[in-house]
Amino acid sequence: MKNKTLVVALGGNAILQADEEGTYREQLSNVQKAVAEIVNLIKEGYRVVITHGNGPQVGNLYIQNSLAGEVVPPMPFDVCSAESQGLIGYFIQQEMQNELAKNDIHIPVVTFITQVLVESDDPAFKNPTKPIGPFHNKREADLLGQKTSFVMKEDSNRRWRRVIPSPRPISIVEKEIIKKSIADGCIVIAAGGGGIPVIKKGKELIGIEAVIDKDLSACCLGIDINAEILLILTDIEKVALNYNTSDQKWIDRMSLEEAKRYLEQGHFKEGSMKPKIEAGVRFLENGGERSIIGSLLSASSAVKDSSGTTITL
Ligand code: ADP
Ligand code: MG
Repeated sequence: MKNKTLVVALGGNAILQADEEGTYREQLSNVQKAVAEIVNLIKEGYRVVITHGNGPQVGNLYIQNSLAGEVVPPMPFDVCSAESQGLIGYFIQQEMQNELAKNDIHIPVVTFITQVLVESDDPAFKNPTKPIGPFHNKREADLLGQKTSFVMKEDSNRRWRRVIPSPRPISIVEKEIIKKSIADGCIVIAAGGGGIPVIKKGKELIGIEAVIDKDLSACCLGIDINAEILLILTDIEKVALNYNTSDQKWIDRMSLEEAKRYLEQGHFKEGSMKPKIEAGVRFLENGGERSIIGSLLSASSAVKDSSGTTITL
């Protein structure tokens, strides 16, 4: 029997947690815990492809670029995304190599700088929604809006930030080399931070300043490489109905139809749990066998069905 391919998505907020400063050591230690669990899956025979979020990390890189702009020319956001793939990919790659060595397992690990194709007429380009970078007062925001092509939006605390579009992923540009590397037995890290968004003009790829939701691009990656399992790991153990209310109910399993109904009923928060369920649904509708949402610290038990929330056909 062919070993199953599993795409595992690590949450950016779980790698750099809200109550942490975000130091090198903190991030490395969070990655280390997740990787130890993933190695258990490798021991069980799964072919593993790892992807990850980058929200807090790319935000920090973008702030560094903005603040140092007088000294070093700032890079556009797609370049910051590429840098974050290198940064987090390095953490995961090295921790994975160390954990494999500890277990006397000899499998090569590779990180791909990954571009993800989006449509140039995606409606998201008309309505940028993702806040990035430093906070500004109204005067600074107006000035920045005049000096650059940035779209600035006000939040509920009367602070202003740049917002960029979040288009839907269409396909993974590097999917063929990713598939080859999996077939060769490598552990692949790809499409980090949702991938670097690119559009196609004729035969040319062009990087754009946007951000793709990592849960949706993890699903796109899973479909493009014909994976059987999509495992989305985050900072919470299970999915709940009526989340954060007195009627809250944790879910162990749901069918595809139930998941779609719960989505319609609005049980999952926009920008956090909703894209995970949407990704899980789309994965099953496009050939996937199982979508699982679970905690970063319990990947192997989530795949065994003893923790997390599983969606099946
Ligand atoms: P990640 O970086 O892993 O993508 P997110 O913060 O985007 O993390 O998503 C995980 C968060 O989703 C949880 O911490 C939880 O607060 C939130 N959430 C929203 N709705 C639900 C729900 N119905 N069930 C469980 N968690 C939910
Ligand atoms: Mg998220």
